[in-house]
Amino acid sequence: MDQKIKLVCECGTINQFAVEKLDATPKCGICHQNLFSGKPIAVDSQRLIKHIENSGLPVLIDFWAPWCGPCQSFAPIYEEFATRAGNQLRLLKVDTEASQQAGIDFNIRSIPTLSLFLNGEEKGRMSGAMALPQLQQWVVQQLTNDD
Ligand SMILES: [Zn+2]
Repeated sequence: MDQKIKLVCECGTINQFAVEKLDATPKCGICHQNLFSGKPIAVDSQRLIKHIENSGLPVLIDFWAPWCGPCQSFAPIYEEFATRAGNQLRLLKVDTEASQQAGIDFNIRSIPTLSLFLNGEEKGRMSGAMALPQLQQWVVQQLTNDD
């Protein structure tokens, strides 16, 4: 059986490919960039929804703003996590100052807020910055929760 997985590229194209290709540095069919850059992808409100609805991988989102100190100190931790997560997760970041609609749509009350989606459903949400080990642990916990 050929199991397919969907993934949205940084350019916005929805790519679909066999699951086995995940490990083979998959590239976008339109812009030909690697689908995994090892960095969080900056998205606006519309693009965020597109990722959530079309991602075969869990989607982790960092809601942040340029004026927020804790967000600034968390940014390098999040980038490091993106590198480590490789092709296991889709890491996005949303500037809630530039994309205020995203903050409204997702009911973001404080920043930074981290949100984790799987198959279009929110599995967990956490407010406040975390250190890398806590972030890793939190993500694993959300994904192994069955409820
Ligand atoms: Zn692309």
